[in-house]
Amino acid sequence: MDHFATVDGVRVDLRHWIGGRRVPSDRTFADVSPIDEQEIARVAAGGPDDVDAAVAAARAAFPAWAALPVAERSAILRRAADGIEARIEDLSRVETLDNGSLIRSHRRGVMPRVALNFRAFADYAEKQLGHPDLSVRNHRERITYDPAGVVAIITPWNAPLMLATWRIGPALAAGDTVVLKPPEWAPLTASLLADVLHEAGVPAGVFNVVQGTGADAGAPLTAHEDVDRIAFTGSVPTAGVIARAAAPNIVPLSFELGGKSPLLVFEDADLDLAVDIAVEQFDNAGQVCLKAARMLVQASIADEFTARLVEKAAALRQGDPRDERTDQSALVSRRHFERIDGFVRRAIADGATVKLGGGPNEELGGLYYRPTVLTDPGEEIRTEEVFGPVVTIETFADEPEAVERANDTRFGLAATLVTGDRSRAERVSHRLNAGTVWVNCFFVRDLEAPFGGNGRSGIGREGGPWSFDFYCDVKNSVFSP
Ligand code: NAD
Repeated sequence: MDHFATVDGVRVDLRHWIGGRRVPSDRTFADVSPIDEQEIARVAAGGPDDVDAAVAAARAAFPAWAALPVAERSAILRRAADGIEARIEDLSRVETLDNGSLIRSHRRGVMPRVALNFRAFADYAEKQLGHPDLSVRNHRERITYDPAGVVAIITPWNAPLMLATWRIGPALAAGDTVVLKPPEWAPLTASLLADVLHEAGVPAGVFNVVQGTGADAGAPLTAHEDVDRIAFTGSVPTAGVIARAAAPNIVPLSFELGGKSPLLVFEDADLDLAVDIAVEQFDNAGQVCLKAARMLVQASIADEFTARLVEKAAALRQGDPRDERTDQSALVSRRHFERIDGFVRRAIADGATVKLGGGPNEELGGLYYRPTVLTDPGEEIRTEEVFGPVVTIETFADEPEAVERANDTRFGLAATLVTGDRSRAERVSHRLNAGTVWVNCFFVRDLEAPFGGNGRSGIGREGGPWSFDFYCDVKNSVFSP
């Protein structure tokens, strides 16, 4: 195999990163850019042997990394954040070509957040990896956060580097070592991350990358007996497979999964704001777990809301994600494109009304799909996660019905409501079944706050101290008087 590819001018190593060195594979898999469906690289296709080697390297590196004083680990992670900031342009270009997401989002939002995933958890570790002693019946109880060991991290393609570092940052800050299995549809920035962490002084074996498919590399990693934690971000069916693989080893799991989040718009809402939030749901071509795909609008304003959303979404500029002016790019792969089109075609056959889009963008061809707004949705499109530029609009009569409809899902990741009534905002946000509720805003969140989903949307919470609860073995030592 060729060990390197030049991707939009950036040199990327296509091998695994195990124990502080690059390791090739006999086999490779094709990495195809969604922009034009051309192959951009052939990446090492890892298997059980590579996974064994990576877990062994992570295990060997664990005692020394865990024993480093928190301040020293945090200093290294802050250097990693600096390294990411210095390479924002490279990382943005590679991610854009790899998964088709907008370069402007990477430059201004995603990649700075990737750096923050290290900087913030370096700070939190110094502040939060401790707990005041308790005193019970004259005994002193000392609570400590011991690093858990080797963490397996498995990530999806829609925001690969951001979602990986959201787990890697706290795991490394806690004193764990990591084996990352990046998504096969967008594997490249994980390799650049290995370079950045190495240059920042992360010791050999503390961070490892095994490239490959879910079946060949992900499955042996999640079934591995020497893994102490599994952090998985991805779909519900894969989560079920991973939970079964991990069960015999009794490994704690942190799952961040799919959603079918509602956007509730009440008649007392600022309609400009509601429409702005609604249009944001087409960001990253709707390939966002938190996206509010199910719009529930009070009947009295539904026609106006729908007309204004359609007008704004129709004005979204589709095209090449490397162009700063592009609003919506191509879908990640042919398979994903067909899946989304299947949902839309069945929804239409099922009686949905197409208010906008409803199919591929024929002018652009390739993997470009029109922003699609459907009313009168049937059962499937109302309940299944589509993960594309498709939203449905339904109406409700009053607040109790709005809450009931919003909660009528097996997911529970996020919910957004737009209302001008503060007491309604308090009432409704309390009653919504979701890990995150946004009131008159969308997508803002501090990394110190808990993040996760209810029901099929996941297991556990991460963020600030919640991350350390997962990445550490919390110990209570009781001292006699
Ligand atoms: P996916 O489940 O198909 O794949 C995710 C990862 O799992 C990939 O790296 C894949 O190679 C790996 N994998 C597949 N089979 C495996 C197996 N048997 N064992 C171990 N690993 C395996 O998901 P996807 O299509 O890449 O991502 C889209 C999904 O991710 C959507 O459902 C989306 O909502 C969800 N997501 C959730 C969040 C969140 O924070 N809750 C964030 C982003 C995406």
